[in-house]
Amino acid sequence: MSVPLKVPYLDASAIESAATELLRRYAKWKGAPPRPPIPIDDIVEGLLKLSLSVGNLRGRLGNDVLGATWLDEGHVMIDSSLEGNLGRFTFTLGHETGHWQLHRPIIEMEKVTVPLFSREPNEKATPAIVCRTGKRRDPAEWQADTFAACLLMPASDVRATVKAAFGDELPTTEGIEARRKSGEPDPWLRGLADHIIDKGDFENVSNEAMRYRLLDLKLVVDASNPQRKLL
Ligand SMILES: [Zn+2]
Repeated sequence: MSVPLKVPYLDASAIESAATELLRRYAKWKGAPPRPPIPIDDIVEGLLKLSLSVGNLRGRLGNDVLGATWLDEGHVMIDSSLEGNLGRFTFTLGHETGHWQLHRPIIEMEKVTVPLFSREPNEKATPAIVCRTGKRRDPAEWQADTFAACLLMPASDVRATVKAAFGDELPTTEGIEARRKSGEPDPWLRGLADHIIDKGDFENVSNEAMRYRLLDLKLVVDASNPQRKLL
């Protein structure tokens, strides 16, 4: 029903910089750099001054809607089905923060049309970014997901945790790439992600999110790859 939000191309390193910049602003505001678990609620409500609520988005906007951001009101809503699932709740909140940081300025500057949704039944409909899980391949959705990963699992913290756990030799096994491509479960990578979550205090991050982050940061290497040292 809604057209994809048209956003300019951003590569992963530009998104990483935007997330790092937000963490830097938070550190300045708080007086100390945030350590994992990254206090996403305080970033959203304290630093960005957005209001946050948990509500029945799926029931009202569709079964595939887990998060939404109302731009004029500065309001983020997370679907109540994610309560009790800390990893998914946190990631969805990080994703909405990504829209706020990366896309709201573009929408305001270029006056891009954003569909109108009401926050509550019978309320006036206002511009909102409504996130549908099936739309993950839309550039705006991919960018928001990448932002969430960079914000909740800062590269420097993940790298330091891997180094503390494994020294200079990166964790290595056979067939990582093949399993990633085929989508086959990877118990080795799952175990490694759990270990890093535990050692690095990334307790508000899901195993799945950490698996992708370790792969994206190239902190796990396929045994066939000669590049195994931590740079
Ligand atoms: Zn989204």
